[in-house]
Amino acid sequence: LLQLYQPLNFFGMVYREIKQALADMEAMFTLLSVEREVADAAGAPALAVTGGELRFEDVSFGYDPRRPILKGVSFTVPAGRTVAIVGPSGAGKSTISRLLFRFYDVSGGRILIDGQDLRGVTQSSLRGAIGIVPQDTVLFNDTVFYNIAYGRPGAAPSEVERAARLAHIHDFIMALPDGYQSTVGERGLKLSGGEKQRVAIARTILKDPSILLFDEATSALDTHTEREIQANLRQISEGRTTLVIAHRLSTVIDADEILVLEQGRIVERGRHTELLALGGSYAALWARQQESAQSGQGRGPDPVAD
Ligand code: ADP
Ligand code: MG
Repeated sequence: LLQLYQPLNFFGMVYREIKQALADMEAMFTLLSVEREVADAAGAPALAVTGGELRFEDVSFGYDPRRPILKGVSFTVPAGRTVAIVGPSGAGKSTISRLLFRFYDVSGGRILIDGQDLRGVTQSSLRGAIGIVPQDTVLFNDTVFYNIAYGRPGAAPSEVERAARLAHIHDFIMALPDGYQSTVGERGLKLSGGEKQRVAIARTILKDPSILLFDEATSALDTHTEREIQANLRQISEGRTTLVIAHRLSTVIDADEILVLEQGRIVERGRHTELLALGGSYAALWARQQESAQSGQGRGPDPVAD
């Protein structure tokens, strides 16, 4: 009986996992284009978030064991602080965010949230604790209300509206033909990149996670939109542990620590002024971005790299 039961239990688990994946992660999968590779450990407890300290300890990882991508990456984001990661395309920045969500397990070292190894807690609790404001927000073909309320299913209309106000998208929504009941997404109203991101920010405000992950847009935003979005991000990251995959130096200036990642290794780390004084990779990135900002004339600074 046990032999029969175990596979059934296994399929039950997979089914639940798939359902949960559909419920929680539909957008994430599209966004990060990865497949699930890991399962919960038997009897794993939920992650217990206290302050929200995030720690990478000597983390190594490769999608293919023969080709290491991250090599001994260590950093800590103290509870409520902000760490930014910059570096050229292919350095491994997005890989760090995929590992944080445990789409893959590390091959060496460990990742801890408030002292708990990610491999020892349920994935649903892990993903529930982390909010993401992705690079390209994908909206569901549904109402604006649904798209925001998705951050916390069952949220009251007043809570959805409050989140929308904080994300500076409420007035815009009220001007739509059906207000919060307007359909957006591929088959509905097409929103601009900045508007979609603000819907995603509202969703995240509603979810109220302890840890935030920003994958900044690489595409050029107009200066006004960029300032607005940065003000929004600053506001919701207040008091939350924040990891920023940064493409604009204007975002990293205020970070408590900046990590410069090159070929899977942290080659420089420190605050903006310290790194400028160092005169290395970061200083070079900065100089290049200043130049293109000047030649671009009001177009806003170019991406840091990537
Ligand atoms: P960044 O975000 O810094 O541009 P990524 O973390 O996306 O870099 O990628 C780091 C390296 O890992 C790149 O060489 C990329 O080609 C490789 N890579 C990314 N995703 C996968 C994957 N799913 N399978 C295999 N290799 C991958
Ligand atoms: Mg990337």
